[in-house]
Amino acid sequence: MSFKNFPMVPRVVYGRGSAEQIEEIAEPIRKNGYPIIYFADHCFENKSLAHHIPVKRNDKIIFIDTSEEPKTSYVDKIRDDLKEEFGKISGIIGYGGGSVMDMTKAVSLMMTNPGSSADYQGWDLVKNEGVYHAGVPTLSGTGAEVSRTCVLTGPVRKLGMNSDFTPFNQVILDPNLTQGAPKDQAFFTGMDCYIHCIESLNGTFLNAFSKSYGEKALELCKKNYLEKAEWDDESNEDLMMASWHGGMSIAYSQVGVAHALSYGLSYILGIKHGVGNCIAFDQIEEYYPEGVHDFKKMVDKFQVEIPKNVCAHLSDNEMNKMVQVALNLVPLWENALGKNWKEKINENTLRELYEKM
Ligand code: NAD
Ligand code: ZN
Repeated sequence: MSFKNFPMVPRVVYGRGSAEQIEEIAEPIRKNGYPIIYFADHCFENKSLAHHIPVKRNDKIIFIDTSEEPKTSYVDKIRDDLKEEFGKISGIIGYGGGSVMDMTKAVSLMMTNPGSSADYQGWDLVKNEGVYHAGVPTLSGTGAEVSRTCVLTGPVRKLGMNSDFTPFNQVILDPNLTQGAPKDQAFFTGMDCYIHCIESLNGTFLNAFSKSYGEKALELCKKNYLEKAEWDDESNEDLMMASWHGGMSIAYSQVGVAHALSYGLSYILGIKHGVGNCIAFDQIEEYYPEGVHDFKKMVDKFQVEIPKNVCAHLSDNEMNKMVQVALNLVPLWENALGKNWKEKINENTLRELYEKM
């Protein structure tokens, strides 16, 4: 097929307080007495959000450790534990940022597909539909709530399980849930959305579908990060929708230079996606002059510290590996620089960029 025929999230609830409707949403998915499993970011342990999760009968909450980004080994371990404890489950509902959303998608797929999640890192390798999975974002920006992937770090690569079975069956968008996020974290994740827009709108894969979503998302980001005097309740609502639209925009295009570089930073240094994007984006004015110019203004306005000199202590070996990880992301370079991207960028250009970070 030459045109992508991709699935979208079939059900979405939006509104302040909509997460309170969870019981109504969860009850009909209960099958043959199998439990509903709730994943919640570990930051919600003993917090009011966790107390609002309607755990009933044999249901269970699992607090997901997000101190590192999701690993294939962690996905496999939770899948094995769930199979051992329950055999089958009715579904998984995940509360958190991109990490928990990706864990929810991945474990749901691994409940019905044999082997390790590492076997499915790539495109269209997943054979069977997963168990029911729903996402409830508590940070806005990654677009993981709408995307067809769940990004995992495996033994050999950091790559998502991209498949038609990956998108959520249900998403609940409740802006109240993003309200308490720490300022810097919310900024880094919000910038993920802003960078998705810049990379999509300036990419060679752009088409009217991506453009319509990307422009809306960018408008909402600029309104709240540049134009408005202060962040307010409406900003949380706007960012939740910007994240959604930004995710839709890259569904039919691709990300670009910052994401390619950020994947390298993450693989070698364990730097998280949002921060890594910011570290990279700060140094690539040459590729996205206007986008980076506005980004620097946002960083100043929100008084966020972008880590510096993160590559200063890398060995030659590590640097080479990082450059290779980034260079291997062919579709990202092709989107950013066109079919002849290899004429425009090589190991040396990447190394020089990394040395500035
Ligand atoms: P995250 O989920 O990794 O969370 C970052 C931190 O914020 C964690 O410490 C967490 O405990 C905390 N946190 C989350 N919600 C909070 C809240 N409401 N209040 C207080 N603290 C809160 O951050 P993220 O930026 O949302 O997600 C990054 C992940 O998303 C990466 O693993 C990345 O690979 C993935 N990602 C996936 C896609 C996709 O399409 N699937 C797209 C982009 C990024
Ligand atoms: Zn991203």
